[in-house]
Amino acid sequence: MTPPDSNSDPLRVRFAPSPTGKLHLGSARTALFNWLFARGAGGTLILRLEDTDKERSSEEFEQDIVESMHWLGIDWDEGPDVGGAHGPYRQSERMDVYTEYAEDLLQEGKAYRCYCTPEELESRKKATISAGGAWRYDRRCLALDKDEAAKLAGSGTPFTVRFRVPEGTVTVDDMLRGGVIVDASEIDDFIIVRSDGSAGFHLAVVVDDMTMEVTHVIRGDDHLTNAVRHVLLFQAMGVEAPRFLHHSLLMGPDGSKLSKRHGATAVSDYRAGGYLPQALTNYLALLSWSPGDDREIFTADELTREFSIEGVSASKAVFDFDKLNWLNRQHMKRLSSGELTDLVIPFLEREGRDSLLELPREKLEIAVDSVRNGMETLADAVGPTDVYVRPGGVLDEKAAFELAKSGEVREALQFCTATLREESSSDMEAAERLVARMREGAKTRGWKAKTVLWPFRLAVTGLTVGPDLTHLIMFWGPDGCAERIEATMKTLEASDG
Ligand code: GLU
Repeated sequence: MTPPDSNSDPLRVRFAPSPTGKLHLGSARTALFNWLFARGAGGTLILRLEDTDKERSSEEFEQDIVESMHWLGIDWDEGPDVGGAHGPYRQSERMDVYTEYAEDLLQEGKAYRCYCTPEELESRKKATISAGGAWRYDRRCLALDKDEAAKLAGSGTPFTVRFRVPEGTVTVDDMLRGGVIVDASEIDDFIIVRSDGSAGFHLAVVVDDMTMEVTHVIRGDDHLTNAVRHVLLFQAMGVEAPRFLHHSLLMGPDGSKLSKRHGATAVSDYRAGGYLPQALTNYLALLSWSPGDDREIFTADELTREFSIEGVSASKAVFDFDKLNWLNRQHMKRLSSGELTDLVIPFLEREGRDSLLELPREKLEIAVDSVRNGMETLADAVGPTDVYVRPGGVLDEKAAFELAKSGEVREALQFCTATLREESSSDMEAAERLVARMREGAKTRGWKAKTVLWPFRLAVTGLTVGPDLTHLIMFWGPDGCAERIEATMKTLEASDG
């Protein structure tokens, strides 16, 4: 990837999730963007956990985020688990750093203490609005005289710290949107330290980005309005703001922000549903990036090489489940039988398919391989592979009915067993040869191929639907198939009784 700008500083980006929920697809896309930028430009990716909301943050969510990122193949160079020179990387462990910067801003008159209670604020807000005005903090506490302020400070009255928004215009230089210019008069004197002494979101983000030497902030465009405040804070602290890239948000098919209403939203849900991480990263990357031609299937390596800012679009990204399923199929197709089987095994375990799991490995691979064309996700291997552990000679109702209705069944099955007994190999060529000979046998008898092949399927599997005949022969071997047909013939004779 070409570096997003000619800045010669080493590129440092960060992914800063709040562990207040599982890793959402939208956040995963932000993480992926950051990762692609860092990896493509030889930069550094930082994982920073924004866990200042104690009530809503949990270790369980943190674990889900970290595990989901590992699963997606997104790694980071600095973070709570791997350490780094700019730690700690959990905001809850950095409160003293924020306090220091807040103190400086207070000293410099760039911030001030506000003693207004939430109730007072609410009632003034209501009054302003009912008088037809627009509410912004009315700077009452900025107007306190020295004595009043000293009295309040001395009495231990709780306070917040507000940033004193300077006059003028603020420009957020966004790599995707150009300069976004906002008049500072539209911005409230926002709270940078809460009444419990903890840092507010904006202060924490800016102090972290500054002290962690972040060069590029890549995040969803729901943070674009926050970026205005961040630029003001960077200016107040006398440092240059990082470059910003606010990518579009992930929408559901109805155009509203992707949420549970639209289906699963957590990366770990897709993992549990049998999606491949490479399909998901491919899909999330493609949602707002295009290689400039019509290629759609990319490995993570290809993405890190090719991803570039020029290909990123600012327009809405609409999640398309069909497209993801299609990509999942494409990536599954690229897997060898061995790789696919390894990935399917946990799903068989989860669904208690012990008898399949006890099969010799090469048999299990044939079984999995035989159902792969019908699979949209890895979980789809569960069910269709059950055919391989059915006892011989046991027919389901439909299969029994189908066999009973065909006049030539007995002759066809006898021909099948005789043909099978002539072959000893069970490799793919032998299996294909056998199917071809059964077709020919039908033809010489003046039958359609189906007259032989249909009873063959029914008799070997006991079912009317299932994998192709070649795989059935490879799995049970010619002799095994013959035995199963004989067992079925016995069942039929017994029922003729
Ligand atoms: N913690 C914020 C979030 O999860 C991200 C803040 C940022 O990237 O600046 O939305």
